Amino acid sequence: MAPLTLKPRPGVLDIEAYVPGESHLPGIKTIKLSSNETPLGPSPKAVAAFSAAGAELERYPDGQATALRAAIARRFGLNPQHIVCGAGSDELISLIAHAYLGPGDEGIYTEHGFLLYRIVILAAGATPVVAPETDLRTDVDAILARVTERTRIVFLANPNNPTGTYLSIAEVRRLRAALPGNVLLVLDAAYAEYVRRNDYEAGLELVATTENTVMTRTFSKIFGLAGLRIGWAYCPAAVADALNRIRGPFNLSVPSIAAGAAAMEDWPHIEAAVRHNEEWLPWLTGEIEKLGLVVTPSVANFILVHFPSTPGHDAAACDAFLKERGIILRRVTGYGLPGALRITIGTEAENRQLVDALAAFVGARP
Ligand code: PMP
Repeated sequence: MAPLTLKPRPGVLDIEAYVPGESHLPGIKTIKLSSNETPLGPSPKAVAAFSAAGAELERYPDGQATALRAAIARRFGLNPQHIVCGAGSDELISLIAHAYLGPGDEGIYTEHGFLLYRIVILAAGATPVVAPETDLRTDVDAILARVTERTRIVFLANPNNPTGTYLSIAEVRRLRAALPGNVLLVLDAAYAEYVRRNDYEAGLELVATTENTVMTRTFSKIFGLAGLRIGWAYCPAAVADALNRIRGPFNLSVPSIAAGAAAMEDWPHIEAAVRHNEEWLPWLTGEIEKLGLVVTPSVANFILVHFPSTPGHDAAACDAFLKERGIILRRVTGYGLPGALRITIGTEAENRQLVDALAAFVGARP
């Protein structure tokens, strides 16, 4: 037999696959606070639309996702021609990388930025460049210092996962203004709906007023539709054109289009989720700080909690302790944060149970 010569493109085997948050523990009822999903679930209207879509599964979906793009455009006052939908914002982030990056190009992301950026940059054959953060926050000057003539994309999660920190719109504008015109700035605003800060904007205006800024959003977080895989990008016309040329022609399913459009129409449901977060984010932060642990101030629906490095009292020990009690958090070692755990804000009962379990862990210290 001839020797096996089949090989992926250079770089593909350098990629470390994304590891999702754990979701089940064998044999026990679990509290899953590991993937930043909403404790309120999706809008009942979205669930009804999803079920109704089951009646026409033999049909291909509308390849333009017209109803979904129209619903998004109505909600945010946008031109639907500038909206591209994807199977989660993951797909859009990947499409953007494939459209704008190739071998020899560089893509920048921040030190503790969302891990998918590295994967899509490498998958496109380009070189990842990491900009250090300052106190777990994006540092615009550090990004700018890493721009070369090879830079083609800057990925910025705002707010960032897993830190929960954000960059003010003034700083985002400063970054855009200082980046060369041939660099695409990708504003990943997966958690935008949760942010309650006067100096935050997701980037709609910046996309509308520049040729080289794109914003991605998701239905996986506050809309409660992570299982359906729906995301959208608001793009300058030329970027939308590029993404539409390379995306799968039917990249959203019939149920996704229907449920996403219905979810967009049910704004009271989103407001309820915001109120829930406004109540429990500060509560959880305060209760955990009272236990003597350090919490990075978050504007999103999760918090990053830092543990001492002493064996037995560290993040790994806490993770194991909580798992034995059925509580799943997210280890963030892959993000360069081995001493921290990321906790999604849950239901009231889940949050209280979590704090009790953390208190037991801390109280177990000698
Ligand atoms: N961006 C950020 C910052 C995220 O945290 C996530 C979810 N982990 C995504 C994008 C992707 O979300 P989805 O593909 O479900 O839209």
